[in-house]
Amino acid sequence: MPERDDIVVMKFGGTSVAGPEEIKRAARRMVAAREAGNSVVAVLSARGKTTDELVASAYEISDRPDPREMDMLLSTGERISCALAAMAINDMGHNAVSLTGSQAGIVTDSSHTKAKIIDVRADRIREGLEEDKIVLVAGFQGVSTDSRDVTTLGRGGSDTTAVALAAALGASVCEIYTDVTGVFSADPRIVPNARKLPVVSFEEMLDMASSGAGVLQLRSVEYARNYNIPIHCRSSFEDLPGTLVLPESETMERPIITAVTHSTDEARVTVIGVKDEPGIAGRIFAALAEANVNVDVIIQNEPVHEGALADLSFTVETGDVVPATDAIAGLGEICREVRTDEKIGKVSIVGAGMRTHPGVAAKVFEVLGEKAINIEMISTSSIRISCVIQADQVPEAVRSLHDAFDLGEDQILTEAPTGEHHQVAPS
Ligand code: ADP
Ligand code: ASP
Ligand code: MG
Repeated sequence: MPERDDIVVMKFGGTSVAGPEEIKRAARRMVAAREAGNSVVAVLSARGKTTDELVASAYEISDRPDPREMDMLLSTGERISCALAAMAINDMGHNAVSLTGSQAGIVTDSSHTKAKIIDVRADRIREGLEEDKIVLVAGFQGVSTDSRDVTTLGRGGSDTTAVALAAALGASVCEIYTDVTGVFSADPRIVPNARKLPVVSFEEMLDMASSGAGVLQLRSVEYARNYNIPIHCRSSFEDLPGTLVLPESETMERPIITAVTHSTDEARVTVIGVKDEPGIAGRIFAALAEANVNVDVIIQNEPVHEGALADLSFTVETGDVVPATDAIAGLGEICREVRTDEKIGKVSIVGAGMRTHPGVAAKVFEVLGEKAINIEMISTSSIRISCVIQADQVPEAVRSLHDAFDLGEDQILTEAPTGEHHQVAPS
C-alpha cells in the first residue's frame, strides 16, 4: 500500500443502502474517497427494513427462535448490501471486494444476537487494501472462535463493526453515514426543531446512546472512547459537516443540558411477593445475567410490616421479556407472581453541566407533572436523569422537556467557565 494512503472507514446505515440508487450513491462516496487518495474500508448495514423483516420471518416460524439460527438468518442482510455495492464499485472502474464479518476477522464472544467483539484480525482487509481494492465489510456480525458460529452484535451493531475496524486499522476517524445530518438535541422525528450538535463528548454520547438515541449504537461509542477514535456522524444524502463525537477535553462548548432522549422499546418486569431476606436479589439478577438479559432501571420497596413480602421491579428491552421471565421461573418458588408491562417508555435528559447545576431534576419532574405525565420509575447517572412513563406519553414528554430546557435550534443555554449561565446563539 502506498505510504500516502490514509485509511478511511465509512459506515452506511440501512436507509443509505435501501435501494439501487442509494447503493450507487454510497458507492460513489467510497470511490470519491479513494480518488482523493485514501484507502477505503466501508461497513454496510442491511438494506432498508431487511433486518426487521428477517426478525419477523423468524417469529412467523417459531415463538422462541433458536439464537444460533437467528444469527445465521440476520447476518445475511448485510452480506447482500456488500455484494451489491461491490458490483456498483466495479462498474465505476474501481476494484472492490466484499467480505462477511467472519472473513473480515471480526472475532466475538459466543453470546448469540448480542455478541461482543473481542478481537479484530484484519489481515484480509489489509491484503485487499494493498491490492488497491475498496474493501466492503458486512456490518453487525462476527464469528465466535469458541463455537465457530456466526454471531451478530445487537441491533444497530454495524456502527460497532465500523468503529472496531477504525481502531484496528489505525484510521484517524470513523465516518458514520446515516439518514440524519448528525446527532441532534432530540430525535428529529419527534422534535422538528431539534438542534444539530456540532460536537458531543464521548461521555454524553454514551449516556445518550444508552437512553435511546439510536443514531449510534451504545457499544460503538464505548469502543470509540476506549480506543480514542473520533466518530463523525453525518448525512449520506447531503454533503454537510455532521457531528463529531470526541473526548471531553476536545469539546469546547459545555451546555448544561445537551439532549432529551427516549425509548419505547422497554418493558417492566415486576416480581411480586419476594421474601425480604439477603441473597434473593442476587439470585434473581444472577439468573438474568446468565440469560444475557440487560437490566436497566431497578426499584425495590422495603415491606412496611415486618415479615411481609417485597416487590421488585426492573426494566428490560422488549425483546428480553421472555428470557427474563423464563430465567426467574427457572429459580423455582422465589416469588408469588411475575407480571410484565410492555406499554412503558422512558424519557431522559442528558448533559455534563448537570453535575454542577442543581435543580435539573426538580425541573424535569415539574415539567412532566404539568403535563399530567405520571413518573413510574426514576434512575440517574451523574449526567443523566431518566423517567419511566407510559409509552403513549413519550412524544409529549420529549417535546415538553426539549422546550422547557430551551434546546431548540434558535437558542441554547450554556455554562460559562465562571459558572455563570447565559444564553448564546447556536454555532
Ligand atoms: P442507520 O440505519 O443509518 O444506522 P438509524 O435508524 O440506526 O440509522 O439511526 C438514525 C436515526 O436515529 C434517525 O433517523 C433518527 O430518527 C434517530 N435518532 C434518535 N435519536 C436521535 C438523535 N438524538 N439525533 C439524531 N438522530 C436520532
Ligand atoms: N441491520 C442491523 C439492524 O438493523 C444492524 C445495523 O443496521 O447496524 O439492527
Ligand atoms: Mg443504526
